[in-house]
Amino acid sequence: MDLYSGLINKLIEELSGLPGIGIKSAQRLAFFIINMPKERVDRLASTMMEARNNVRYCKECFTLTEQEVCPICANEGRDHKTIMVVENTRDLAAYEKTGRYTGIYHVLHGAISPMLGIGPNDIKLKELMQRLQADVNEVIIATNSSLEGETTAMYISKLIKPTGVKVTRIASGVPVGGDLEYIDEVTLLRALEGRTEL
Ligand code: ZN
Repeated sequence: MDLYSGLINKLIEELSGLPGIGIKSAQRLAFFIINMPKERVDRLASTMMEARNNVRYCKECFTLTEQEVCPICANEGRDHKTIMVVENTRDLAAYEKTGRYTGIYHVLHGAISPMLGIGPNDIKLKELMQRLQADVNEVIIATNSSLEGETTAMYISKLIKPTGVKVTRIASGVPVGGDLEYIDEVTLLRALEGRTEL
């Protein structure tokens, strides 16, 4: 039974396809949007389009950026011989917020998950290995401490070890299953400082 007009239904359907938005939240958002001033809706829609059209992957570390090379990779003052591997751009942002990490990053855009059918070729792993052909001293694996994050860490360390590059894993001060982005800066720094060689 269609309770709402076709267009409202369509809007609810689109919104409920977003992560973390259930049908109830989608309904609430849809009615909110319909009652918003038209200019605000225009601004929201055009900001979404603009971001989608102009944000891309950094060609070196694969974080999201508006430039070909992101400001972190382009910064000569950073230690380009230390690469921290993170699952996504939000995790990178969490470490950047501490202001204490001076190396560069590599963003995998996911983690290996046999259960979800995500294999090594579905994340930016090949690209990481290519970067190791440059002069790299240390790769710090900072994937989450979830099952997927740990699986990915093990996989990466096995891959890198034969190259002779030092591989470390952040300490597990990070709660199990915890998403890096929700953890406070002190815990993040402690995890980084307490990293151990794999
Ligand atoms: Zn970059």
